[in-house]
Amino acid sequence: MLPALPVSLRLLRLLRFPCYLVSRRPALSVPSRSLERVQELHDAPLAPLTTFRLGGPATRLVTATTDAEVIAAVREADDTGTPLLLIGGGSNLVIGDKGFDGTALHIATRGFRLDGTTLELAAGEIWTDAVARTVEAGLAGVECLAGIPGSAGATPIQNVGAYGQEVSATVTEVIAYDRRSRETVALSNADCAFSYRHSRFKAEPDRYVVLRVRFGLEDAGGLSAPLRYAETARALGVEVGDRVPLTAARETVLKLRAGKGMVLDPEDHDTWSAGSFFTNPILTDEEFAAFRSRVAERLGDAVEPPAFPAGEGRVKTSAAWLIDRAGFTKGYGTGPARISGKHTLALTNRGEATTEDLLALAREVVAGVREAFGVTLVNEPVTVGVSL
Ligand SMILES: Cc1cc2nc3c(=O)[nH]c(=O)nc-3n(C[C@H](O)[C@H](O)[C@H](O)COP(=O)(O)OP(=O)(O)OC[C@H]3O[C@@H](n4cnc5c(N)ncnc54)[C@H](O)[C@@H]3O)c2cc1C
Repeated sequence: MLPALPVSLRLLRLLRFPCYLVSRRPALSVPSRSLERVQELHDAPLAPLTTFRLGGPATRLVTATTDAEVIAAVREADDTGTPLLLIGGGSNLVIGDKGFDGTALHIATRGFRLDGTTLELAAGEIWTDAVARTVEAGLAGVECLAGIPGSAGATPIQNVGAYGQEVSATVTEVIAYDRRSRETVALSNADCAFSYRHSRFKAEPDRYVVLRVRFGLEDAGGLSAPLRYAETARALGVEVGDRVPLTAARETVLKLRAGKGMVLDPEDHDTWSAGSFFTNPILTDEEFAAFRSRVAERLGDAVEPPAFPAGEGRVKTSAAWLIDRAGFTKGYGTGPARISGKHTLALTNRGEATTEDLLALAREVVAGVREAFGVTLVNEPVTVGVSL
């Protein structure tokens, strides 16, 4: 029941603390002790749970704050054949305007435990805060992943990476609930099958619910891991491969990210995004040769497209470069969804967009890049109830 408050104050509290809408009745068809305490909403808007601020309502939204609540909610959905959507920080999700017909489970568990150089994070921990705490503790390994929005539990899903670091380099173990065996399992780094913006969790999207992630960090006497990214090294006035004080590494990355609209700021629509909307294409040597001749035809022989080694017979090129050179420059668009004014790779909601507006822009970019260069861009965020 809502407390008796003046309407305006009550509305304010509803907006700030959606838990006031919560039904605490044990209305679940498979009653469970741990589910009696969870927060539950019906016909609940999902847009406020995403960084795009887009998407329709979920039939039911459950917020779980302990591992037991997470597992109970997942089991209940599986037992009743109810579709389940896991939501952490909502920073890599594109939810359709029609919403989600099923149970959306918001994972809001908390837990930060440091034992020597071993870090264990509960899935719902806020990633960027956890990074700040590891830096304060003088440990290296994730300092260049500062500023990435979202939850710790989602970091292994797409092997989060930026500025020369990826979580695959430090994750030692992922504790997950396996919906197939209905057990909690421990996956080693090798079990996670990490690759560029990919993992076993992404390959088997309806199987694992990450509960905890363990990292092996390094005590380098207050210094960072060797810098792997030229832009960061340049900004710090050192060479790639050098180490710098941890705080300097973290702060430099945060500054570089903010300049590109890659640190969340509710006042800045350039950050109402999912970060990079497209992954960098990985091409076979033959595909890259064909792409290079398209570039020469269109932009002249002197123009060399970006190329980075990506394993035997494979080359990675830059999605941002492709988008820009196909004519979609920063700020592109006239509607409520536009390319960020700070980075060509981020598609953004200017405040009044719908998911369909966003998808229309994404499709225009994909078609334009394909026509210009014969390369098909692939979206990085997970789509729910819609596709490109
Ligand atoms: C401004 C901005 C900048 C960004 N910069 C980067 C960047 O530099 N590098 C990068 O890699 N990403 C970046 N991202 C993308 C995003 O922040 C990351 O992918 C992040 O890890 C997503 O976490 P989340 O908790 O928000 O996941 P959500 O968006 O809530 O979910 C993403 C996917 O993971 C699943 N999921 C969530 N939690 C769990 C769980 N506990 N168990 C199983 N599945 C789960 C969801 O079902 C969904 O499929 C950026 C996003 C924004 C908005």
